[in-house]
Order: sequence, then C-alpha cells, then structure tokens
Amino acid sequence: MSTTTHTNHLTKTGERTHAIHAGLPRPTAGEPALPGPVFAAHYRVPGEPTASPYTYGRDGNPTWTLLEAALGELELPGEAVETILFSSGMAACSGVLFSQLGAGEAVVLPDDGYHGLSLLAERLAAFGVEVRRAPTAGDAQRELLDGARLLWIESPSNPGLDVCDIRRLTEAAHAAGALVAVDNSLATPLGQRPLELGADFSVSSGSKQLTGHADLLLGHVSCRSPELAAAVRTWRKAAGAIPGPMEAWLGHRSLATLVPRLTQQSANALALAEFLAGRPEVTGVRHPGLPDDPAHELARTQMRRFGCVVSFELPDRAHAERFLAALRRVEEATSFGGVRSTAERRARWGGDAVSEGFIRFSAGAEDTADLLADVHQALDTATTGARP
Ligand SMILES: *Cc1c(COP(=O)(O)O)cnc(C)c1O
Repeated sequence: MSTTTHTNHLTKTGERTHAIHAGLPRPTAGEPALPGPVFAAHYRVPGEPTASPYTYGRDGNPTWTLLEAALGELELPGEAVETILFSSGMAACSGVLFSQLGAGEAVVLPDDGYHGLSLLAERLAAFGVEVRRAPTAGDAQRELLDGARLLWIESPSNPGLDVCDIRRLTEAAHAAGALVAVDNSLATPLGQRPLELGADFSVSSGSKQLTGHADLLLGHVSCRSPELAAAVRTWRKAAGAIPGPMEAWLGHRSLATLVPRLTQQSANALALAEFLAGRPEVTGVRHPGLPDDPAHELARTQMRRFGCVVSFELPDRAHAERFLAALRRVEEATSFGGVRSTAERRARWGGDAVSEGFIRFSAGAEDTADLLADVHQALDTATTGARP
C-alpha cells in the first residue's frame, strides 16, 4: 500500500515556485526531475507483501504517488494531507459520495451544480440515501442540514457561477454533525482552498483547469483525515476507478504551468466579462471577478483567483448559434479550463436550468486583445444576421 501523506517543504516559496516543484522527488544524479510514468499491472513482491510499497496496479502506482503528493501540497501547503487520484472527476465525486453515504442517511447537494452530480444523486436515491437539494446562492443549503451526514458544495457553481460562503456553510454543517465536501474543479487549489476554509474533502476534476490542455481525464480527492482518506482509497480499489500512469504523469507535468495558465485565463475571463457587460444584446453576464457581480463580495473573501469561466445570455437560441458559428479562434466545445478558449450553448444538453441563449465561455490563455477581437466580431456577425 502506498502512502500519500505528504508535508510540503516549500511553503515559504512563492506560488509559482511551489507549483513548479510540487511533488518532485529528491534530485538524483542521472535522473529527470519528474520520473517517467511507471507502467505496471503488478510489482515484484517477494515474501511478506506488507514489506512492499506497491503490489498490484489497481492499489497503487509510483507515478500516482508523486502526483498525489504534488496535489496535496497545493491543496493545503505546509500541512499533512492525503490525496487519492482518480480516473476522472466523476470517479472522484463517486469516491466521496459512495464511501461516505449509506441507506437511511441524508446528503445535501446543490441543485444548480455540475449536471453529472444528478446522475450520482439518482444512484444514491436508488440505494436508499435521502437526497436533499437547494441552490448555491444565498447559502440555501444551510436550511437542509438537520440530521444530514454529508453536505456537498460546488462554489462557484457550474454553469451558473453562483457562490456560497464555504466557511459559514461548513461551520453550520459541522455543528449539525455533517461532513463537508467541496467540488473545487472550477477554481483549482490555486484559486480557492476548501480544506483551509474548513471542508473535510476537496474534490476536483483534473480534466479541466487543473491540467489545462484538454487532452486527458483525471480527478482527485484530498482530505486531512487519514480515516476518511482510507475509506475513499478503499472505494477506488473496489470500484477500480484508477487513472492510467500516462495520464497521471501528464497531469503532474501540467501542474508546473498551472499558475501562469490560471493567471492569464482569469485575466482574460475578467476582460471578457467586462467587455460583454457593455454590449446591448448581452444580458446576465456572470463572473465572480466582475466587481458588480452579485457573487463578487463573497468570492473575494474565499477565492484568490476567479477562474476562466464566464456565463452570459444572448437573446435566443438562433442568436447564440450564430455567435458560436462566427467565432474564429474559439472552439465550440463543452468542458472548460483549457489553454484554448471554448464556448458552448449550454441548453443543447438539456441538463441545466438555463435559457436557450445561455453561453458558457471558457477563456483560454490567448492574448487578451485577440480573444476580445474575436468575440467582438462574432457578436457583430450574430447581430447583423438577426436583421431582416
Ligand atoms: C467536469 C466536472 C466534473 C466531472 O469531471 P470529469 O473529469 O469530466 O469526470 C465534476 N465537477 C465539476 C464542477 C466539473 O466541472
């Protein structure tokens, strides 16, 4: 069994240095800084298996161990934290929900979070878990905590970008005897640290901003408690929701550029939100970094970067489709967080409570002027197309 408890040695360094060096092993002559992926279904285990850190590939892998250490350092610098890597964000969400909840227990979920959560809620309900749901905004989940075993927070929520007070909700949940998990996929640990805000679990997709190149799927769960971590790790082993070594290695490599990516993408998102707010055909622009966004005051208290996602509404479906078709450098695609900008009409999936003209835009790391120019011309084209 590999151990992923790790105490960070770089807490006094700046964030970029910290992210660039996170999880790297002690430098060794003749070895690369980040050892290559270890491909192994099993490891040699002579004699007593307890003497071997790695036995079978579904239980542990040295490439995961390095990335788990790196993520732990970013999630909670300077403190011991355990991280369990998964094959995807949904596997990580499942790891917490299914290891912590049983028949007859209650879970409080957001009703405006990532649409995949609804699929898991259906499974939980089928197994006899009581599912309670309330919106993210206004800390509405607080009203449902009585007798609950777990509170699940997603802030900012995806795709509506509402924010709740994580510390306040966590204190209320703990007072009610509930554990707290925060889905931090949108913010990443460099934008917001749920464990520092009191949560028991920080859960994240690694397929989005965290790795940022839109070329792999990963997920992880971090927590302080070794007991909670052990339960999540056992669920991973039982369900087999394990990442490939190549994905883990690529994910670790990508962390070195997390700070510059996130910084540029957050700046682009804010510039885009400000630009969109000045367009007459655009309504409902949401971005937590926008000074007059309803979530901004609260977001400032718990986020250090506001992320790359901007949401807004165009008058109708046809207008939104013309806008997306007219973009030249922005890919029409789902997901978010990649270095290349993407946008989509969210209602096309049918899972979110959004209008037909609702756009979720993920700002990439392009030059701000180029991104704004492309959006500008696409909005103009879409509006011209509407004229009789
Ligand atoms: C994408 C996403 C997930 C699921 O992650 P995958 O890696 O796609 O499985 C979970 N939560 C949020 C908030 C997401 O955006």
